[in-house]
Amino acid sequence: MPDLFNFADDLGPAKVIHLYEPSVKLKAVLVVDNVALGPALGGIRLAPDVTTDECFRLARAMTLKNAAAGLPHGGGKVVLSGDPKMPKPDKERLIRALACSLKDIREYIMAPDMGTDEECMAWIKDEGNRVAGLPSEIGGIPLDEIGATGWGLRHATEVALDYLDLKLKQARVVVQGFGAVGKNVAHFLAKKKATLVGVADSQGSVYKADGLEVDQLLQLKAAGRSVIDYPSGDKFDREAAIDFPCDIWIPAARPDVINEDNVHRLQTRLVVEGANIPLTPGAEKILHERGVLCVPDFIANCGGVICAAMEYRGAQASEVFNVIADKIKHNTRLVLEISKSKNILPREAAMNLALQRVKTAMSFKRWSIF
Ligand code: NAD
Repeated sequence: MPDLFNFADDLGPAKVIHLYEPSVKLKAVLVVDNVALGPALGGIRLAPDVTTDECFRLARAMTLKNAAAGLPHGGGKVVLSGDPKMPKPDKERLIRALACSLKDIREYIMAPDMGTDEECMAWIKDEGNRVAGLPSEIGGIPLDEIGATGWGLRHATEVALDYLDLKLKQARVVVQGFGAVGKNVAHFLAKKKATLVGVADSQGSVYKADGLEVDQLLQLKAAGRSVIDYPSGDKFDREAAIDFPCDIWIPAARPDVINEDNVHRLQTRLVVEGANIPLTPGAEKILHERGVLCVPDFIANCGGVICAAMEYRGAQASEVFNVIADKIKHNTRLVLEISKSKNILPREAAMNLALQRVKTAMSFKRWSIF
């Protein structure tokens, strides 16, 4: 377990709670990182192998993402140990026990993450906790269904293309990962006449130089099949998507998929980060030196959290699209301008932007992290 006092810095974490209740097999950690901007908003990750260290890093990532998105929220996260595919009655008991244990925590708003969904959030609401990401029947906005993150990525992509003097309708796109994020960004870019030339999921990848039909791919996924069942194109293993030549490469699957060992294989002009931390810092630096533009994850993929924050304040689904587009276009341009004028990595510019917002908010407070 990491030592809190080694981990802590001038942002946080403000509060760390370990929960253990053997009767329901509840083993969880809550990290509230920083609440200077408002109550922490961040998801509950349910997986068998979660760690306290991971929770620290995820909570900090939410502090930066929420600040960069201009939301009145700090960052926090819960990791909950367990198999996300456990029988539903066990899952309900576990989630309700988690909610009950954290009922008195006012500075954290729960939300879904890997392994938890809208139904889990409904159980949490029923226990009386602060929560976003609810089913639509009780006031929620189904952010994956409406494609909130993919919609934001489309706008980040369009702004970034201005810096490459390229238009979407001339652009060839590769998307790695074809789940909630990947499917939706492919759909929104195709609607703007971009050409999807390659796509990968956990089963493999497909490449077609003259373009894949996004609707056909969506139908395959809806039927529970893989992108490699696409009727034409060249099929490869999933790693091969890194080699597909394109103008825009969008990671929307796992962390660290592009690293110092494979970054030389990317043949693209722009990377728009849909997944969280899909590129290692070293890989981002190498791409920057090669003149490949990278829009960092917490600038490009914050559509989902913007949607959750708006839902928490009672917004309707139809209201979120414009807000997501405006915020992400503004922030992408700001970050790329600063990166260009100061010749620093876009991530460094994004970090500076987020940190400045958090630190200004901290300066208004007596105790900056409570
Ligand atoms: P998801 O589970 O719906 O989809 C993941 C997709 O990636 C699936 O198609 C899966 O087959 C594919 N995949 C898994 N491993 C792969 C590999 N090695 N190579 C190629 N494809 C692989 O998940 P999601 O909600 O789309 O999230 C994807 C990423 O984006 C995650 O890192 C998540 O944390 C991040 N993210 C999601 C949201 C959101 O709104 N859902 C918001 C911000 C960030």
